[in-house]
Amino acid sequence: MILSKEHELMRKNFRNFAETEFTTEIQEQLDREGGFNWDIWKKIAKYGFAGTKIPVEYGGQGGDYLAYALMNEEFARVCPVLAIYANTPNSLGGGPLLQCGNKEQLEKYLTPAAKGEKHIVFALTEPGAGSDPGSMITRATADGDYYVLNGRKCFISGAPIADYAIVYARTNPELKGAKGISMFIVDMHLDGVSCGKPEPKMGINGYPTSDIVFENVRVHKSDLLGPLDKGYAVAMKTLDGGRLGVAAQSLGIAQGALEEAIAYAKERKQFGKPISYNQGVSFMLADMATEIEAARNLIYSAAQAKDMDAKDASTQCSMAKYYASEMANRVCAKAIQIHGGYGFIKDYKVERLYRDARVMTLYEGTSQVQQIVISRSLLK
Ligand SMILES: Cc1cc2nc3c(=O)[nH]c(=O)nc-3n(C[C@H](O)[C@H](O)[C@H](O)COP(=O)(O)OP(=O)(O)OC[C@H]3O[C@@H](n4cnc5c(N)ncnc54)[C@H](O)[C@@H]3O)c2cc1C
Repeated sequence: MILSKEHELMRKNFRNFAETEFTTEIQEQLDREGGFNWDIWKKIAKYGFAGTKIPVEYGGQGGDYLAYALMNEEFARVCPVLAIYANTPNSLGGGPLLQCGNKEQLEKYLTPAAKGEKHIVFALTEPGAGSDPGSMITRATADGDYYVLNGRKCFISGAPIADYAIVYARTNPELKGAKGISMFIVDMHLDGVSCGKPEPKMGINGYPTSDIVFENVRVHKSDLLGPLDKGYAVAMKTLDGGRLGVAAQSLGIAQGALEEAIAYAKERKQFGKPISYNQGVSFMLADMATEIEAARNLIYSAAQAKDMDAKDASTQCSMAKYYASEMANRVCAKAIQIHGGYGFIKDYKVERLYRDARVMTLYEGTSQVQQIVISRSLLK
């Protein structure tokens, strides 16, 4: 797809920012030590990337889904963790608010998130409810002007640094499965809210992931987000956009791995010539580049479908996420192969990209869940 001049300019800006600000030193430090880099976060906020896709009236940049995809792609090309930093407020944090927040909620919660002043995270998954969030058991019981929340969420990206969480809880235990679930905006500093220790992860280190536990947490009724008992549908709709973001992150990772592999193949000599002179190696590069381009087109077209609110936008986002995340894993594996033994050593970036790519087929719906979404749309 040929991008407009405006989108090309955006791509250039995203690339410049990632390449100049998210240095190899920072990337390696985050991978080694975990935690969170507040200096980078301040820069993301300053440049408005926390609100790339959020309307201008709520403090964002008013960009479209294509701009959002380009940001994720370009940031992840340098380092997926940078993409995840900027992605959260634009997707799963801000998405549910944008979808059904009232004016007060939008001004109170969305605007500071878009400006990067506050962190909002998305808390759907539970230990017993992953691919099947409808089986969640976190409970919200009405009590006067409040709802009392009890339960545990797990694997919540950004929980340890969050100011607010969009939390899904069962408000009507009579209703089963997807029905009877509501959304709440929970202040992470309320009594009874606590986070577990950040999970030690295979990759994407530097953006902490943990449990959130709710013990008799009193959430005011004004923080009920969207219609009572009907929060699940909003969660699913919000995940569309998030899936597009993960697809674009996968694309960026694959592009980054390809560039590393090309540079290495041209430089590394064996049998008296660069290894790229062997078709066994150069054909691997050709396959990687072709798969990347296929994913890129799928992602940009899914982004356009979202921008036009097309009927099949949701399926397209699932296809993009499914294909791009699996593709990134294949491409990163080949990039390691081309690096030979050196690809297994931490000094080489492909080793980190390989680990970072692994989560892409898992979170925001596993590949199997994407297959369920796609096949359902074919068979309905
Ligand atoms: C680093 C990280 C960050 C995350 N961030 C967040 C977050 O911010 N917020 C949040 O709410 N969640 C988050 N998650 C949770 C993530 O979305 C879930 O891990 C994911 O949805 C899968 O759920 P599960 O791990 O319970 O796996 P399970 O659902 O137990 O699945 C296990 C396996 O069974 C397969 N499977 C399950 N059901 C079916 C079926 N019907 N047909 C075929 N195969 C099936 C799955 O595809 C998978 O291969 C995060 C996870 C990770 C690892």
